[in-house]
Amino acid sequence: MAQTPWYPVKSVDPEIYQLIELELARQRSTLEMIASENFLHPALMAGMASPFTNKYAEGLPHRRYYDGCVHVDAMEELAIKRVTELFGCEFANVQPHSGASANAAVMMSLLEPGDRVLGLDLDHGGHLTHGSPVNFSGRLYDAHFYQLDNNKELLDYHAIEAKALEIKPAMIVAGASAYPRIIDFAAFRTIADKVGAYLLVDMAHIAGLVASHHHPSPFPHAHVVTSTTHKTLRGPRGGVILWNDDQLSTLLNKGVFPILQGGPLLHQIAMKGSCFLLAASDEFKVLQQKTIDNAQAFAQTLVSQGQKLVSGGTDNHLVLLDVRHRDFDGATVASVLDHLGITVNKNAVPGDP
Ligand code: PLP
Repeated sequence: MAQTPWYPVKSVDPEIYQLIELELARQRSTLEMIASENFLHPALMAGMASPFTNKYAEGLPHRRYYDGCVHVDAMEELAIKRVTELFGCEFANVQPHSGASANAAVMMSLLEPGDRVLGLDLDHGGHLTHGSPVNFSGRLYDAHFYQLDNNKELLDYHAIEAKALEIKPAMIVAGASAYPRIIDFAAFRTIADKVGAYLLVDMAHIAGLVASHHHPSPFPHAHVVTSTTHKTLRGPRGGVILWNDDQLSTLLNKGVFPILQGGPLLHQIAMKGSCFLLAASDEFKVLQQKTIDNAQAFAQTLVSQGQKLVSGGTDNHLVLLDVRHRDFDGATVASVLDHLGITVNKNAVPGDP
């Protein structure tokens, strides 16, 4: 039998090795239905265990604070070239350690503490980093929220515009952790322009669908786009920042380093580069189409059995089951399913009690 990439761990740390093996067995024996997770290509998983992890390279390619960066420079430049080609934009920073770091870097570079931010309410599908009071974004900035329409449970662009005109945010955040429908980025940009706000699109969840043209691109509408690389994009864990206007380049790059982070995780960045390569392939397009087909078939089946879904169905990779009218709550459903070998995540829904 072929050895796993982590097999050598066994001889130096049998306890951790054992836990890795147990997790592998868990992933193989359960149905993993968490929309923000994916299964990394085995070659990319192996590629994260490279000597790039040994290297310090604070700074950007050819402008480092350390020497010996000839190969990491070439690697990071290649990753940047690939991701800008993949998403059709001019500039990228591939160093954010995660999606949350990417959002923090953007906010810290474009906003001042106390500035107003308008994002999607957490209960309506937004993410913690879009202004939640328990997160840096809600602690550093004056966060306000827009909600989904009460009846249709869809983004209501008229209501978002009214809210934006009322509070005049410095930044509007579009994008979600739990929104099963297409997002109209052009409509968001029109609203942002009316109030002179930056439009940040956080496409973490749908980046794979955007790469394969199954979801409209945030470009040319967004001033800045952030993403994770490990959800639908199917890369290693990490984040990325994308933009078109060179006037933002210095600010955004400084937002990542030195404002937020130290040395980049070069072993992760290398495999982000490989992930961008794979995401440009025809095979990846087929995979994204299958993801949507499966999510829609699943949603239709649930609806035909009388289940209630947020927004009534899905256009993308995720399905949100609303159990408010039932005798049990979502946390109970999630833990019962876990017991049965089906892994999901509990999530707030609009109007969650
Ligand atoms: N942005 C969105 C929309 C997300 O859904 C998530 C994670 O779930 C993040 C950002 C944060 O990503 P990470 O967990 O890599 O920090």
